[in-house]
Amino acid sequence: MVVIVRPDVPQEKIDHLVRWLKDKQLVVREYQGQQQTVLGLIGDTKPVDIDMLKSLDIVESVADMTDTFKASNRKIHPDDTVIRIGPGKGPAIGGGNFALIAGPCSVESREQILFVAGEVKAAGANFLRGGAFKPRTSPYDFQGLGSEGIDLLVQAREATGLPIVTELMDHRSLELFLEKEVDIIQVGARNTQNYDLLKELGKVKSAILLKRGLAGTIKELLMSAEYIMANGNENVILCERGIRTYEYAYTRNTLDLSAVPVLKALTHLPVVVDPSHGTGRADLVPSMSLAAVAAGADGIIVEVHNDPQKALSDGAQSLTPGAFRDLALKIGKIREALQ
Ligand code: PEP
Ligand code: MN
Repeated sequence: MVVIVRPDVPQEKIDHLVRWLKDKQLVVREYQGQQQTVLGLIGDTKPVDIDMLKSLDIVESVADMTDTFKASNRKIHPDDTVIRIGPGKGPAIGGGNFALIAGPCSVESREQILFVAGEVKAAGANFLRGGAFKPRTSPYDFQGLGSEGIDLLVQAREATGLPIVTELMDHRSLELFLEKEVDIIQVGARNTQNYDLLKELGKVKSAILLKRGLAGTIKELLMSAEYIMANGNENVILCERGIRTYEYAYTRNTLDLSAVPVLKALTHLPVVVDPSHGTGRADLVPSMSLAAVAAGADGIIVEVHNDPQKALSDGAQSLTPGAFRDLALKIGKIREALQ
């Protein structure tokens, strides 16, 4: 249920109503927007008499919220969520703040990550990505450098000032991620419905980049975000990264760009697009990135490698630093055109 409070109601009257609602065993999410205060009631609302609520002088309107996703629902949080990364002047995502996240699929060596970090920063990226713990289809493929990879990302952050984005596969590595102050913890497509992992991530305050599952629906993605938020962490960034369809010959996944405006309408969370995993092809990454920006994405996450042909993972979908520079310029132009 969503309760819209009349403008200019004194806070103590709102507090009184919230206490009364909480006594009915409801979770009450109070959102104070620029225009209005909205109360989102989560739980069994049957004991609440909707007509009585409507008749209160401080209440403007009451509506049902039958959607299964609650905390992420735009109905109870009308403005975009803006997630600020790091203390002070760190970059933000959402509400008009665009995240240009770039870097290799995997951190391979100190030289590689420092070089790519410098290149993507010079091109205008405001976040560095790089996998240290890699989910690979084959156990015989490169599995990532693990904790050494995290240390190398930290060095790249120190060298460039770029906040780092890297995937957490197992809750047992969470302590390491917190100790190294990983700025954005990625939940990969294979773990989107690992609910125990999501619950653990609900207990921390770090920003979480939550990818859409390999064959996940939009609703399943929202429910996964709900797991993190219901457990206390509001800093969730949604990521469309393509889903598995019957097409496999020409694209690795089918990038669902319609998910961007759908998600932006349903939720207040930032939405970013990963055209690298979304297509699996470097030649498709620029056009799909520009389309994602035009569709209203709050950011893109793109794989960039110093020498894609020799990459230890995902070389076929990795841009060279030069191609990324061209793309970053074009993204700037599309964003200007949209203003
Ligand atoms: C990655 O970002 O390198 C990755 C493995 O992504 P996804 O979980 O989307 O496949
Ligand atoms: Mn990859």
